[in-house]
Formats: sequence, C-alpha cells, structure tokens
Amino acid sequence: MIKIYDTLTARKVDFVPLDEGKVGIYVCGPTVYDSAHLGHGRSAVSFDVIRRYFIYRGYEVKYVSNYTDIDDKMINRANQEGISVKELSDKVIPIYAKDYGALGVMVPDVQPLATDHVPEMIELIQGLEKQGFTYVLDDGVYYEVAKFTEYGKLSKQKLEDLRVGSRVEVKDGKKSPYDFVLWKFKKEGEPSWSSPWGEGRPGWHIECSAMTWKHLGEKFDIHGGGLDLTFPHHECEIAQSEPVFGKGSFSKYWMHNGFINVDNEKMSKSLGNFFTLKEIFEKYDPKVVRFMFLQTHYRNPVNFSNVLLDQAKAGLSRLHDFVRNLNALLDAADDGVVSANLTAAINVARSRFEGVMDDDFDTSGALGAVYEFVKEVNVMMNNSSLNKIELSAVLNFLQLVDKVLGVIFVEEATIDSDVEKLIEKRNLARKNKDFKESDAIRDELLERGIVLEDKPQGTIWKKV
Ligand SMILES: [Zn+2]
Repeated sequence: MIKIYDTLTARKVDFVPLDEGKVGIYVCGPTVYDSAHLGHGRSAVSFDVIRRYFIYRGYEVKYVSNYTDIDDKMINRANQEGISVKELSDKVIPIYAKDYGALGVMVPDVQPLATDHVPEMIELIQGLEKQGFTYVLDDGVYYEVAKFTEYGKLSKQKLEDLRVGSRVEVKDGKKSPYDFVLWKFKKEGEPSWSSPWGEGRPGWHIECSAMTWKHLGEKFDIHGGGLDLTFPHHECEIAQSEPVFGKGSFSKYWMHNGFINVDNEKMSKSLGNFFTLKEIFEKYDPKVVRFMFLQTHYRNPVNFSNVLLDQAKAGLSRLHDFVRNLNALLDAADDGVVSANLTAAINVARSRFEGVMDDDFDTSGALGAVYEFVKEVNVMMNNSSLNKIELSAVLNFLQLVDKVLGVIFVEEATIDSDVEKLIEKRNLARKNKDFKESDAIRDELLERGIVLEDKPQGTIWKKV
C-alpha cells in the first residue's frame, strides 16, 4: 500500500485510487516567460519519480502537466521583448522541454496549454456566476471568496486571519483583498478572447481548474505542485471547481514538493538568488542534478550549494563505476547459478526499496537501499568472483529500481558509439604493440573527458 502525505488532510494517508489500478495526476506546470530554474527542475523531478513509482507498482497512470502560456508575466515579458505572447511561449516552451528531458523527466501524457482551454474556463466561470460566486468590477469578473465557506481549507488558514501578502492584488472595489480575478477585461495590446462578459482573458487560477476538468474529469486522484502554490493558487482552484462540480469533487489528494534554499533563504526569482538549469548544466551533468534532488525527500527543502552538487556527482559516479565494472566482468564470466546469498541480498534490497518508496516516495531512503546493496555485492565480489548469471541478476535489479530513479543507466545509454569504436581501435593498437597510436587515442579520449582504465578483464572507461 502506497502512503502519501496529503496536504489537505495534513497527514500521511493510504493511497486509495478512485478507479482501481488507475491514477490520474495533475501537476501545475510553469508560466513560460523565462528559462527554467532549479525550482522548476525540482518540482518536475519530484513528480516524475512519483509517476514512475506508480507505474512500477502496476498502476495505469495518466499524468497531466500544463504550460501556463497566458498571464501578466507573459504579457509584460512579451512587451519588453517586442514580440507577441504566442511568440514568447513558442520560444520558451522548447527550453523547458529540453531541460526537463535532460533531467530524465518523462514527457507528460498530456501537456495542455492554457490558451487551448478558454471555452472550458468560460463555462466554469458561468457555473460560478449562476451560483452567485462572482461580481463584476471595471476591469474584470471577480470571485468572492467569502461565498465559499471552505476557503482556506488547503492552506489551513481562516479568511479572517489572512493578511494581505505580496501575492494578493490590492484593488479598489474588491469585497475582500483575497477575491481574485476570473476574467480580465481586454486592455490595449493584450491578447484576448470573446466571452459573455466581453473581450478579455482568463485569470491564472481558472486555467488549472479548466485543464484538470478537461483532461482528468470532475474528480481525480492527485493534484500536485510546488509548496508555494498551496496558497493562493491551489486554494483558489478548489474554490472554483468544488462549487461547480459538487462537494467531494476535484482532487482527492494534494501533494506539494519543498523549496530550494540558498544560504538558508528560499530560492526565488523575486529574491534574485536563483539559478537557471542551463547555468547549472554547463558545469554538471543533468543526471547529477536529478540525483541531487533524489537525495532529499521531495517534501523537505533542498539546501542548494556547489558542495551538494559535488557530493551528488561523487555519489552517482560510484554507482556508474560499479555498473561499468559489472559490465566489464560480464563478458569473461562463467555461467552458473545465483547463489543463495545473492538471492537473499536482492530480495532484501528490493523490499527495502519498496518499503521506503511506499512510504511517501522516500527517494533518499531508496538510494540508501541501493548503496547498501552495492556494498554487499562488492563484499561478495571480493570473496569470490560472481558468475555470469549472478552479474546479470545484479544488473537486472539495478535496472528495475532505475526505472523509478532514472539516474543509474542513463549514461550507459548515451555512450557515443564512436567512443566505443576508438577503444576498440586502441585495443588493437596495443595488441600490435603500437603504443604511439594507443597513447594518441587515449589522449584524444581524455580531451573528450573520458578516462580509460586497463584491467585484466578489459578496458573500462569513465567520464571525468
Ligand atoms: Zn495550477
């Protein structure tokens, strides 16, 4: 049984799907006005692992994550750059897709764009209007939070205790500072759609209510996003969707990933202490970044630093070295059967892995289980060599858990085949005692960041 920490009930609960064997997940995606930063990467990786683990456990997963391609930030940036909002999103979306791909994030089953869902948004606003949740000011249609008695249930705040924070728009005529805009009337030079209230564009919150509805229905299993989205964004999504679809509709569970801190301060655009993924990928392999995220439970803050990345790099290359060593041994190994010791070690490691992952997706514990296993196998290999079947069993186990973790085998898969060819060529040169040629190839590979180690069983290589 998978347990998840549910923000709504504020406790760890058993995950019981609405439809047996299936799970529908919606994760708020980025507003695509600027490059992806570490915080985006963390959210994407956190939910990618959650999605992969559900698949590992045999669930049929429908994973939906949107791009917000219309909002104030989009309009401001497009104006600054002198391009249209559409041109801006066309430029920025591929950056996200590329960075997330580099982090090993599986492409969502559905990646809706907000601008493709305006009719659904209008229908939802009409539903709210019919029930008296809306009022109109000179610049748009607003949602009256006081009408939704459960407003604040997700972020555990009472309306009367709320203070006006930076994320709340102050505006004359609003009945409460927390009332938020559902439909903004058109301003000169802004993209707009026609609606029963006149030309305009949707507010941010209604976009996600519409996209969840369209792709996962009135009720679905899990809604996720970064912790900073809990309030007001997710609170507002609930306030919009529940009145229209009825009590108990919308998301059954709510999951939120933690922040990234830099020098004990939350990393954010507004504080100016943020790093883009592109900047970090210039110095570190994206898989090192993914591994760094996995070392911390998704709900805890990551205290980001170069030291943390260096540690992740070292930790990950230990796993890669281990796998490379196993592969190198495989060719020369004899056939045989799997020893009882190794079978036991695999079973223990597997049940540890599943135990911690079932417990609210504890990836840090999962990596611990993998390291423990590697250590044990190393001890076995020091005592006597493993046969072919045993080496394969070890590799198979690591491949199985890596379907979820996505950090161990990626490098193997991305080997340039010409690197392999050069190694072969060098082996031939060595065999012919042409050391000048063999040294030249070694130097060439070194220039490409690849170090060769000649072992009795053959040449192995690693990236530096
Ligand atoms: Zn959202």
